[in-house]
Amino acid sequence: MKLLTDFVPHLLLYGFFLLAALFVLVLLLWVLGLTFSPFVWLTTKLLQTRCPECKGFFKKKLVDLETSDKREVLRTINRVDQGVLFSNNLLALNHGFEINRQEQVTFVEETLTHTWQCKDPACGHKWQTEEIRDYEGSLGS
Ligand SMILES: [Zn+2]
Repeated sequence: MKLLTDFVPHLLLYGFFLLAALFVLVLLLWVLGLTFSPFVWLTTKLLQTRCPECKGFFKKKLVDLETSDKREVLRTINRVDQGVLFSNNLLALNHGFEINRQEQVTFVEETLTHTWQCKDPACGHKWQTEEIRDYEGSLGS
């Protein structure tokens, strides 16, 4: 019995320390995340301005942007219809409902081709990147 009475206050203390350590860890991760994410964002932004030929920063200049491909595709998507069934009785509650259904819709898939050029006249390298974006709709509208 002596062992238990000796042990219990320690257990509480250890538990407290563990909680405190966890709290500090979470706080640290949070602070690190806050300080690192703008840094990572800045680095990727900076890397995006690079010329692949002369590796210079802030050399990327958009020369041309064109839609190289545009087509309609059919896709099955999930839709949720929400509504309220109003009861005519004052005392009865209105019922909200949700209906999940699948619908086939037309999507427009666009391939955008960006033409970039290096700002450095000595380099003058030109290159292209492709970006695919899609949105609901049809080519007719
Ligand atoms: Zn260059």
